Amino acid sequence: MTNELVLHADVIIVGSGPGGATTARQLARLGKKVLLLERGIDQRSKPYYGTYLGALIYADRMSLLFTQEGLNIVRPLMVGGATSMYCGCAAPPPDWLKNKYHVNIDAEVEETMQELNVAPLPAELRGSASTRIAQAGQALGYAWEPQLKFMQPARGKHFDCGAKCMLGCRCGAKWNAAEWVDEAVQAGTVLHTRANVLKVLIEGRRATGVEGTLAGQPFQALADTVILTAGGIGTPRILQASGLTQAGQGMTMDVTVMVYGFIKERGIGNEPPMTWSWENLDDGYLLSTLIDPWLLFPIINTLKGPRYPLYWPRWNNTLGVMIKLKDVVSGGVFPDGKISKPLTANDRPRLAAAEQVCRKILKEAGADPDNMFMTPLRGTHPSGTVRIGEMLDNDLQTEIAGLYVCDASTFPEALARPTVLTIIGLGKRLAQHLAQAH
Ligand SMILES: Cc1cc2nc3c(=O)[nH]c(=O)nc-3n(C[C@H](O)[C@H](O)[C@H](O)COP(=O)(O)OP(=O)(O)OC[C@H]3O[C@@H](n4cnc5c(N)ncnc54)[C@H](O)[C@@H]3O)c2cc1C
Repeated sequence: MTNELVLHADVIIVGSGPGGATTARQLARLGKKVLLLERGIDQRSKPYYGTYLGALIYADRMSLLFTQEGLNIVRPLMVGGATSMYCGCAAPPPDWLKNKYHVNIDAEVEETMQELNVAPLPAELRGSASTRIAQAGQALGYAWEPQLKFMQPARGKHFDCGAKCMLGCRCGAKWNAAEWVDEAVQAGTVLHTRANVLKVLIEGRRATGVEGTLAGQPFQALADTVILTAGGIGTPRILQASGLTQAGQGMTMDVTVMVYGFIKERGIGNEPPMTWSWENLDDGYLLSTLIDPWLLFPIINTLKGPRYPLYWPRWNNTLGVMIKLKDVVSGGVFPDGKISKPLTANDRPRLAAAEQVCRKILKEAGADPDNMFMTPLRGTHPSGTVRIGEMLDNDLQTEIAGLYVCDASTFPEALARPTVLTIIGLGKRLAQHLAQAH
């Protein structure tokens, strides 16, 4: 006999990023008894929230998580998941999700855009240096457009958005999935933080619950339906520990770099991140206006070589274009804790071509071609580790009855665009499906 804590619910949801927050909110509103288990805590009211110290506290391995190939991954672990540190960009799902994989979330996405007032920032808030980059791109024939945002300046105490918003939004203008966690709790969801789920309980090819630790103590939770929304790294690890060994074999990352150039005038550092973008669907990449926050700029550039941190004093005069590459599935998340994300022969030439386009745009915008440079690779969208069409059916169910996945792991290919609107769409669709099925 043990005194282990045992919790009961209709539905257990693991992780409170956009996938978990959406499914919990929708299912609770549809009358389900929902248990939401999150390994992090709610950091929003902490004095360090949205600061450099905060990024050390709430991102996995103090923001120093690397793949075996040296690609840096930012992985926030807290209520709201990665939306606590995201750039607030929104993009509808790619057409291939519907056309090739028969997952149609158009209605759910449209509803969400209305609900959260998804729209570009007004022209006067897009930043003059960011707009200068977009106009340079347009002059060269690339169709840059204002980026859709989950951001409402009027909600902010005093809208003061800049690269620092990637540490966490302090003014409140940016929507965070934690807000839907709040709404889920108002609708009856029971939220446990510091709940680290280790494996799914399975009996006779049916999910019966999960087990892990709650504030360091072992616990079990029992339910007929389990939804894993622990993100592109967390979800495959739980599945591997539960005997689903195919999980985590191969991943996508929307591999990201910044190309920087310097001007005499003020750069983009104090302007909202990613206010303008251009998507090259033919070659598979997205370009957008972006620069690392002030203190991270020299740290990340040190990884490139000793002379690059010397550009730190010019941070205020920097123009930055981000490349997000539609990388091919490769590497994976492995049971020994290692993560691998090699670039493939398909990826490298497309990244090189995208870099040349960025250099042309920056030159057109007035930057000196002699000191432009590309940053080391990093990954902000670990995804595609439990792919639709391989491990998941179109309703996001695994081979285990009652065990579902609803987060960035599900993407069958790299999205190469902001992920959150797609994940919310999947979450709404799954909640509706489960409500109808039971
Ligand atoms: C710096 C940065 C900028 C970004 N900018 C944008 C952007 O502008 N627009 C956009 O659409 N996307 C952006 N993204 C990506 C986007 O935020 C993520 O792809 C998205 O949040 C993934 O959602 P998810 O539900 O899959 O998982 P996550 O948001 O990663 O949430 C997973 C949650 O599960 C919890 N968890 C993990 N393991 C366990 C476990 N074992 N037990 C319990 N809980 C667990 C984690 O703590 C976390 O809260 C950005 C990401 C970063 C890091």
